[in-house]
Amino acid sequence: MIHKNIVCPVCGAACDDIQVEIKNGKIEAKNVCKMGISRFNEITSPRRFKQPLLKFGGKLRPVSWDGALQIAADILFSAKRPLISIGSETSCEAHEVGLMIGEYLGAIVDTIGNGATVMGTQEAGKVGATEGQKKNRADLLVYWGTNPLESMPRQMSRYGVFPRGYWTKRGRFDRTIITVDPRKTLTAKASDLHVQLKPDSDYELISALLTLLHGKTPHHSIEKITGVPVSVMEEMLNMMKNCNFGTISVGVGLSSSPGKYRNIEIAMNLVKELNKYSKFTIGVIRSNCNAAGFNQVASYMYGYPFGLDFMRGHPRYNPGEFTTVDLLREKDVDAAFIICADLLSQVPPDCAAYLKEIPLICLDTIPCPTTSISDIVLPGVVDSMECEGTFYRLDDVPIYFEPFLDSPFKFTQSNEDTLKQLFEIIKGKQNQDSIYQDSIFPVTYIDDPKTQNCSSGSQISSVQ
Ligand code: SF4
Repeated sequence: MIHKNIVCPVCGAACDDIQVEIKNGKIEAKNVCKMGISRFNEITSPRRFKQPLLKFGGKLRPVSWDGALQIAADILFSAKRPLISIGSETSCEAHEVGLMIGEYLGAIVDTIGNGATVMGTQEAGKVGATEGQKKNRADLLVYWGTNPLESMPRQMSRYGVFPRGYWTKRGRFDRTIITVDPRKTLTAKASDLHVQLKPDSDYELISALLTLLHGKTPHHSIEKITGVPVSVMEEMLNMMKNCNFGTISVGVGLSSSPGKYRNIEIAMNLVKELNKYSKFTIGVIRSNCNAAGFNQVASYMYGYPFGLDFMRGHPRYNPGEFTTVDLLREKDVDAAFIICADLLSQVPPDCAAYLKEIPLICLDTIPCPTTSISDIVLPGVVDSMECEGTFYRLDDVPIYFEPFLDSPFKFTQSNEDTLKQLFEIIKGKQNQDSIYQDSIFPVTYIDDPKTQNCSSGSQISSVQ
């Protein structure tokens, strides 16, 4: 049987036209890129977590589901300032439950990545468009600090460059491509104009473009600072002013270079001014499938897109104080729950070292550096393949997905279900006087002939 319109859960394109067939226990997928197919193959990978694991004697050992949830709940409930870091590789429904757990516990709930882009949007406001609008209308595409041919392979073939649109019937022949990147990437080589600026000079280049747009000539030192001749800037600006519908797709190359969210802010201001000459929009190339989802869910639930502190019983938002890297660097949290993200690989070394010091719970599908230092690993269900839910695509369009397989576990149907079960246990702890001394529950090590009955207190100290 062929399953159609399956959503790929890998990058922000969230391609929803994947065809899947299961033959002799193997998955064959069509319309999927190389990045995507490796994720589809992961479902049947022998590396996958098949049961919960608890660290005991420095090693992760299989443990009963109820025991793992109880200990996870104990760790979170007893922490004074827990951090819940929710990644993009799960559904918005799971994000919602994770945020509710954080609110209940008075925890900090954050996600990693895209913060600078969101802050830039808050400062300047975004003239946006869906990928479908770009496909049908855009005749000029600017890729700034991103290399979608390698990081989001089907963005250019489905929406950006090659497909025939309503107003761009000849596909690539009706479109002009500009790439702004210090590197000679595949995308840059496939472009009509490659503006090869010096690293970390994005803000200065956009400032110079704005100066030219205002009819003035930028100071001659700009050529030395950016490495881009003013004549090239003028050529680029003329292309932008004279198109019918232009769009800038920015990547982490812009939001992560010095200037951070100010780079995004000034790029959005440039787009606003370009709308005096033509229709122009800006979007973000998000490298993870539901990277936009957390910002959307947190915003509609609590009014803030990331870095929410519930310690005072109401949400507070202060990037730089309530955000993951800052909290870990200041050693301001005493336990962490990482949901569907390899946080260890994304934070600086001092933050990673602190993560190793505190009790750590992880929800994930396959081993990664973060699971290797975790005290408890809860096995994850693969969204879009094994359970239904919603992703937000890179252009903030919600994509509902249905699975083609059932959950491989009897104890949970989805990551949302896992978090709901955990939330119920946490709520049940409200009535207990002292969870360390009084809570007795059975912990069954699957690989141990003896069933061990122990207090959560002794178990907690063993995982620390
Ligand atoms: S472009 Fe992204 S979403 Fe589409 S198939 Fe490739 S990895 Fe999956």
